[in-house]
Amino acid sequence: MEKKDIDWSNIGFGYQKTDKRYVSNYVDGAWDEGALVSDDTITMSECASVLQYAQTCFEGLKAYTTEDGKIVTFRPDLNAQRMFDTAKRLEMPSFPKDRFVEAVDEVVKANAAYVPPYGSGATLYIRPYLFGISPVIGVKPADNYQFRVFSTPVGPYFKGGIKPLTIKVSDFDRAAPNGTGHVKAGLNYAMSLHAIVTAHEEGYDENMYLDAKTRTRVEETGGANFIFITKDKKVVTPKSDSILPSITRRSLMYVAKEYLGLDVEEREVYADELSDFAECGLCGTAAVISPVGKIVDHGKEICLPSGMTSMGETTKKLYDTLTGIQMGKIEAPEGWIREIM
Ligand SMILES: *Cc1c(COP(=O)(O)O)cnc(C)c1O
Repeated sequence: MEKKDIDWSNIGFGYQKTDKRYVSNYVDGAWDEGALVSDDTITMSECASVLQYAQTCFEGLKAYTTEDGKIVTFRPDLNAQRMFDTAKRLEMPSFPKDRFVEAVDEVVKANAAYVPPYGSGATLYIRPYLFGISPVIGVKPADNYQFRVFSTPVGPYFKGGIKPLTIKVSDFDRAAPNGTGHVKAGLNYAMSLHAIVTAHEEGYDENMYLDAKTRTRVEETGGANFIFITKDKKVVTPKSDSILPSITRRSLMYVAKEYLGLDVEEREVYADELSDFAECGLCGTAAVISPVGKIVDHGKEICLPSGMTSMGETTKKLYDTLTGIQMGKIEAPEGWIREIM
């Protein structure tokens, strides 16, 4: 297979159309057999539930080339499960989990020429999504749905080297108690845009959201979970029902315990204990871990001892171990790497 003529290390993080995408329609109470198509556009009713009431959810994962030249994905079964759970919460028909994983495989195979080569730092980002396509005007779930998977090559996240982030404790809330914070609903992102644009205007890279009810506990950012490293090298991640269960974060906690022999703890983390931590990182598919150097809480600056120039020591170990597992340099736990071709 001949790769596309793309400058892999300079492609950035935008959308670029690839050759094929997967589509399956839910009509008359059942999913059809689904197929790969070339058309990258969607035609739907002006009154589709996705357009009127934001009945939509998504997933995000990556395909990439390992050291020995295989094209693989990382734990796609967990994305399938998470979309299954999200669909239930949004009153959408769940897409069968085995078919989700197969659809991702098909899209990666059909766009293999866009999977960046090993060592480029770039990956093929895969975006499964599910939305209500039939018209609704009274507020209720749609009758018909569409599940799609497209892919787009994306550049290395840390272009020009890893640079710790400066984040602010936000006055906006990301998720309501008993709301939809724990599912990957498009609506969570729509309402976070004002908060992130505002943070950027003020010179911050990201928002740290607190729990909406008491505003004392750390939740997450708009699109990544937190991990903290204590001064005695314990790995701590916030526990909350309104956090989106990041696959990267769950994998890192496993790696910390089973590969690095560190103590791990999922517990409530209070904003007023932030100055006690030695390191802080944001976990998500895109960057694996982005180190945080500084947290600003209403004018009070909390400078992590790991500093503003590099990843903290333990964060780096976690990052190297998980990316080593992903790239096939370190043996993966059973079932973590799905070989596509
Ligand atoms: C997708 C997402 C994450 C990261 O999850 P991964 O599975 O690690 O990519 C974290 N927080 C939110 C709000 C998300 O939507």
